Amino acid sequence: MIADGPYDLVGVGIGPANLSLAALADPIDGLHAAFFEREPDFRWHPGLMIDGAFLQVPFLADLVSLVDPTSQLSFLSYLRARERLYPFYFAEKFHIPRTEYADYCAWVSRRLPDCRFEQSVRAVRWSAADEAFELTVEPVGRVLARNVVLGVGTEPKTPAPLAGLAVHSADYLPERDRLIATDDVTVVGSGQSGAEVFLDLLRARPARKGRLRWLTRTPAFAPMEYSKLGLEQFTPDYTRFFHGLAEPTRDALVPAQWQLYKAISADTIGEIFDELYRRTVGGGWPDVVLAPGVEVTEARRSGGRLDLELRHVQQGGHATVTTDAVVCATGYQERDLGDLLGPLATDLHRDEGGRLVVDADYRVGMSGPGSLYVQNAERHTHGVGAPDLGLIAWRAATILNSVCGKKVYPLPERTAFTTFGL
Ligand SMILES: Cc1cc2nc3c(=O)[nH]c(=O)nc-3n(C[C@H](O)[C@H](O)[C@H](O)COP(=O)(O)OP(=O)(O)OC[C@H]3O[C@@H](n4cnc5c(N)ncnc54)[C@H](O)[C@@H]3O)c2cc1C
Repeated sequence: MIADGPYDLVGVGIGPANLSLAALADPIDGLHAAFFEREPDFRWHPGLMIDGAFLQVPFLADLVSLVDPTSQLSFLSYLRARERLYPFYFAEKFHIPRTEYADYCAWVSRRLPDCRFEQSVRAVRWSAADEAFELTVEPVGRVLARNVVLGVGTEPKTPAPLAGLAVHSADYLPERDRLIATDDVTVVGSGQSGAEVFLDLLRARPARKGRLRWLTRTPAFAPMEYSKLGLEQFTPDYTRFFHGLAEPTRDALVPAQWQLYKAISADTIGEIFDELYRRTVGGGWPDVVLAPGVEVTEARRSGGRLDLELRHVQQGGHATVTTDAVVCATGYQERDLGDLLGPLATDLHRDEGGRLVVDADYRVGMSGPGSLYVQNAERHTHGVGAPDLGLIAWRAATILNSVCGKKVYPLPERTAFTTFGL
């Protein structure tokens, strides 16, 4: 049912970010909210649910616990509902499988009547007559809201030379059988997804099944920063510090922090190395190529195959390789919000780089009335923690406190041992 009057809060998209918001909004008395997702049910990166892949953050980074550990929608409540608390207790696992996190989120989404699936938001505009945002939602029609939170996530990014020629890692699982049966496969990109795809193909392809190649532009197959003090860069304290920096400083900082978000978990690196080592038993080297510092500058079809032009970033040398299939594990980019926010375009404040101005409460700077918030579209203002699951509950609570105009969720003043800034 769509209400006649404006909602207090409408969320666009139901990934972990807006699901956390919905879970924390649910117990707030009198807050009238709705969340719209275009998919038929909750989905979390289904193309990369590789067997044995783990969440990169501890289970406490669920949708609610870091703000409200007493919530009925915590990961531990989910385990209780599934009668799995004892097995979890004996498993002594802080890091849960990705499939389990997805199942937990789906369980939460089914407990929240305000979450509506198969409903796509096409546009958001301001209606002066209603003194509210007017959302065009298919197939339901017009929905009014005083506050709107965009949680539309990111989209797969493929380098220009490989566009239309490669499978993106986001679509890996449906292509897996074909890639296992293909003679010569090239994986491009050395983030966590690239490492997982490479490891999965390495393990699944029969020995002596053609060549497996792993190329990356970054200078090394580098481990993700996972030291305890290093992880304090994923705290509210660091987020506040980063938000207070000047725009050019923020822009210079994010790429310099690549090992916080673009690298590979040390465990996955270990598994890859051990698998390669196992293949050298009895002598000889496995027929794989692992080449860092290498960029694909051009690609073209050649018969049923693909010719890749390669350049070594440091040496400057060039080479051509011919392969049968390419998997691009080249990451994700923020969605273009042009269509969605088109009717508001002239009201939105933009920074020097043309990006949305986002305040400390995740509210977009706007000339007109109404409050529009974003989740996971604010790396330029809030830093590398924007997509991090360990910060989603805190961000959602910050937004709810702002929407409600009072501290419905008390948040800690201090969250790190490190002092960020003077
Ligand atoms: C494979 C993978 C594993 C990851 N693992 C971790 C991890 O272990 N730890 C960690 O901290 N981070 C991890 N991340 C990063 C991050 O947590 C995820 O990307 C997370 O899904 C971000 O959540 P989100 O809600 O912002 O976006 P998404 O999960 O992308 O959800 C956005 C939703 O919005 C919907 N949508 C978009 N537009 C509309 C519209 N107009 N109308 C209606 N619905 C719309 C989409 O269909 C989608 O369901 C991982 C990322 C990937 C790709």
